[in-house]
Amino acid sequence: MHRVLLVEDETAIAESLAFALSRDGFAVTHAANLAAARPLCETCDLIVLDLMLPDGSGFALLHALRSAGQRTPVIVLSSRDDETDRVAGLEGGADDYVVKPFSPREIVARVRAVLRRTQPEPTRRPSSDALLRPSLPLHLDAETRRAHYQDTLLDLTRTEFDLLRVLSSAPERVFTRQQLLDGIFGAGYAVTDRTIDAHVKALRRKLTAAGASPDLIETERGVGYRLRDPSAVAGTDSSDG
Ligand code: CA
Repeated sequence: MHRVLLVEDETAIAESLAFALSRDGFAVTHAANLAAARPLCETCDLIVLDLMLPDGSGFALLHALRSAGQRTPVIVLSSRDDETDRVAGLEGGADDYVVKPFSPREIVARVRAVLRRTQPEPTRRPSSDALLRPSLPLHLDAETRRAHYQDTLLDLTRTEFDLLRVLSSAPERVFTRQQLLDGIFGAGYAVTDRTIDAHVKALRRKLTAAGASPDLIETERGVGYRLRDPSAVAGTDSSDG
């Protein structure tokens, strides 16, 4: 049974999440502030972390964990749909980022997805897995910095990986070139917009070579780029089912 630490001060949200997670078979521990959460971090498999807590920001806890080398997966909850926060959360070592309001079912699904992603299975059985789970053709592992499209390991540069990571933090959402630059290099980094175009072109070529549709990364003219929902865009070698 996976143990989830839920760090959330809003009682109604905490209760509904705890209920949904328990019903789905997780052992849930609840902490309503940072001080209560800290000693519980080491004994859980995943942390659902609210950002705005009475005794500080959830980012502080995330930062402390990652600085200490703790890689317990963290899903950040935020009431602000702020691109900067989202990128900061993911860059800060969060494994997923969810904006309020959300449904408890969505969080349960994300908890499952993050655990699946971060806990390598002892044996890979792609065929039976495909029957049991909706297949996600695009898979990024922030810890190993490896990206797979289906079973193909993508040979990405550091910048290409970060570009893909930012885009995949919010599939279907258009990121401006500036947002992508900020997400990859940090705010204020002096490179031209064309740099992004060149990296997108290279990334697209590698994805296509791995069997992805050229439309997986879509150009929004005059605005920027979006990553299409990978399971909604058929690749060249997708199954006919
Ligand atoms: Ca809060």
